[in-house]
Amino acid sequence: MNCLFCAIVTGDIPASKVKENANVLAFNDINPQAPTHILIIPKAHYENAAELAAADQKVLGELFAMAREIADEKTLNGYRTVFNTGEDGGQTVFHAHLHLLGGRSLQWPPG
Ligand code: 5GP
Ligand code: ZN
Repeated sequence: MNCLFCAIVTGDIPASKVKENANVLAFNDINPQAPTHILIIPKAHYENAAELAAADQKVLGELFAMAREIADEKTLNGYRTVFNTGEDGGQTVFHAHLHLLGGRSLQWPPG
């Protein structure tokens, strides 16, 4: 399988790592949309958030727990967590990833 984020997990492709534990890795998005834009991913491969939720709810919860830890460490004044799923959802990398966005006032609704 040829997966960009699996290659980041193994270290074959470099990334700016923010935090990790046994199951989860957080790294800076290469094309940030906010002053803080971090991707939080399961180390195991799942195509999207729905696949992850069906297979491992514990790790799904760990993604949000890590988002909170990072937001606390950065003392963000609020933040947004987003899973884009499928083509119309705007997903471009098909390894589940939680976007953590913050550091500015975010617009709602999103485009
Ligand atoms: P999606 O559109 O699938 O929800 O989000 C994919 C995200 O991955 C995008 O925000 C994009 O900037 C980011 N991304 C794509 N390629 C790389 C890469 O090689 N390294 C990092 N750190 N982020 C990437
Ligand atoms: Zn993968």
